[in-house]
Amino acid sequence: MTKTVLVIEDEPNVAAFIKQGLNEAGYEVFLAYNGEQGLELLRQKPIDLIVLDVILPGMDGIEALGKVRNSGLKHIPILMLTALGSTENVVKGLDNGADDYLVKPFKFKELLARIRALSRRREPEANPSETLGISDLVLDRGTKIVQRAGREIKLTSTEYRLLEYLLLNKNKVLSRIDILENVWDINFNMGTNVVDVYVNYLRNKIDREFSPRLIQTVIGMGYTIREEMSKTL
Ligand code: CA
Repeated sequence: MTKTVLVIEDEPNVAAFIKQGLNEAGYEVFLAYNGEQGLELLRQKPIDLIVLDVILPGMDGIEALGKVRNSGLKHIPILMLTALGSTENVVKGLDNGADDYLVKPFKFKELLARIRALSRRREPEANPSETLGISDLVLDRGTKIVQRAGREIKLTSTEYRLLEYLLLNKNKVLSRIDILENVWDINFNMGTNVVDVYVNYLRNKIDREFSPRLIQTVIGMGYTIREEMSKTL
């Protein structure tokens, strides 16, 4: 089935370049030149993924991101495009629910790799109502609802996949490379701290206000989810 991508980008040349490349790769593309137009298309069309420029006239990309996440489309993958050197925008974007980001100027091949990784849907599980959990944390793979101590916790799609991967490997130590390959499906440039950034986001949501802490850092090795820090590590 054709995947449909909404590209929200105000620079006509960049938008046209992305559209042409994605069309050639088999995607259906809708273009919006500002945030309002993008949100309107999102209401009208069945969109699978959003490519969102941060710097837009009027409503900026960060604001648009917040509106998408608050509109009930909390699991639609969003790839954000940012200008070189705008770390602050990257952090704001990730805080507001972007799943990944790409710094301009980028190679089309890289954009395509990120889009493929984000749009790859997991195969339906053998038992879609299966739940995963540890301590008082429960992840329902059917409804995609996560709860801790009976409280629903809203996660972005990347945070959800990260938590799911940790829970599927409960008590096992996972390296950053394991996590990158399984949660993002591709190898990011080495030196990226995207795993650490996302583990921190997840911790803020599932651990900060609860006890015991579940996500553990294993120094020099990676991360694990378990109830108690083993004394031997
Ligand atoms: Ca722009």
